[in-house]
Amino acid sequence: IAGYVGIDTLQEQIRKKVLKRGFEFNIMVVGRSGLGKSTLINTLFKANVSLRSCSKSEEKVEIAKTTHVKSVSHVIEEKGVRLRLTVTDTPGFGDQINNDKCWLPVLDYINEQYENYLSEEQSVSRKKHIPDTRIHCCLYFIAPTGHSLSPLDIEFMRRLDRCVNIVPVIAKADTLTVEERTDFKQREMLPFAVVGSNQQYPVNGRTVYGRRTQWGLVEVENKGHCEFSDLRDMLIRTHMQDLVEVTRSVHYENFRHERLASRRG
Ligand code: GDP
Ligand code: MG
Repeated sequence: IAGYVGIDTLQEQIRKKVLKRGFEFNIMVVGRSGLGKSTLINTLFKANVSLRSCSKSEEKVEIAKTTHVKSVSHVIEEKGVRLRLTVTDTPGFGDQINNDKCWLPVLDYINEQYENYLSEEQSVSRKKHIPDTRIHCCLYFIAPTGHSLSPLDIEFMRRLDRCVNIVPVIAKADTLTVEERTDFKQREMLPFAVVGSNQQYPVNGRTVYGRRTQWGLVEVENKGHCEFSDLRDMLIRTHMQDLVEVTRSVHYENFRHERLASRRG
């Protein structure tokens, strides 16, 4: 082609470079015990987190004996694309009678990752690629009480919203009536009403994840039953890169700015 320079090949060059390194995505789950956090994460990544993926569990600092933080990493590979997924759980959050300041260990953990990243960035012999442990997305589980948000929910979101991407979900949405769910969603800003399950059942010749009840099967991936697949699409198929980008350019940048300003001041 006359005048053709070949800039369009950049796309392929970038693609190859990114594929070689792989992606890193770090999710944190927060919410009271028994709200289905572990189940939902399993359901989200089950198909992909197979036995051959290496999984490493390490116990992170336990703060004040109540809420502690624990991370598990998986390497998932699909069609030549490698994703290192780390799920950070916060067992104990909101389980006490007095939940005053129980968001603090969560906030501390998030800031600690920013701090580590910052010190790597500033080290004299800095790595070509700094391992990213910053939390890109915090899935916040709201109890399906039908009474909207609790004071702790509000406190948590108010405190953490400026430090991390929060995606609120209504846990165990199958336990709400349709009216309660609609009412909830009308009052709050868009929480995904989700259902998780580790059990599979046959439906019309297919096998689907679901919860069997006396009155029928709740299919996890059926959009008529709950918003699990909307959440999964948002997290994995449409917005993963956005969540990573916002973490880097907004939340981390805020942290860095405050940190450096306070050192000078
Ligand atoms: P976690 O403590 O938040 O990690 O909660 P788990 O994932 O361990 O789940 C606690 C219990 O709730 C288990 O018995 C699950 O089978 C059940 N469960 C998980 N997800 C759902 C859901 O979407 N709907 C209902 N009804 N039960 C659920
Ligand atoms: Mg759990």
